[in-house]
Amino acid sequence: MRNMTPEEEEIKEEDIIGEVHVTIASDAFSKPITCCSRKTKKATKGMSLKGQKVTYDVWKCGKCEEEYLDSQQAEKLEDIWAIQKFLEGKSPTMERSLNYDGKTYFVRFPKDLTAGWAKQKKEKARLTMLSPDRYLVEVA
Ligand SMILES: [Zn+2]
Repeated sequence: MRNMTPEEEEIKEEDIIGEVHVTIASDAFSKPITCCSRKTKKATKGMSLKGQKVTYDVWKCGKCEEEYLDSQQAEKLEDIWAIQKFLEGKSPTMERSLNYDGKTYFVRFPKDLTAGWAKQKKEKARLTMLSPDRYLVEVA
């Protein structure tokens, strides 16, 4: 995921190589996953994102070639897909007022997005600066 630039360039179809076919393992914590009565082996897969090669790992069955993801691998692939969606301009965006209390700027999240946050104990936001005018906000 290195060398990604936040510039909004048109993504070309040939930038995305190959379809991704994977199965999320039902018991993601028992690694390596067993398939066809044998243990799967870790394999590294690659795809191209705006000309940048990104890699992710899967557990691959040597017999039927089925590929499985454990929870960590699934998380990484989800990140790649999220970035791919963002680069394609397909991520949902929303415009919010930038509020200023005389000291600090803040942004309010719409209520329907934050309905489950108290229950999920969301208490931190991580801001990643993409450029001085663009930020990625992650809540955890
Ligand atoms: Zn198999």
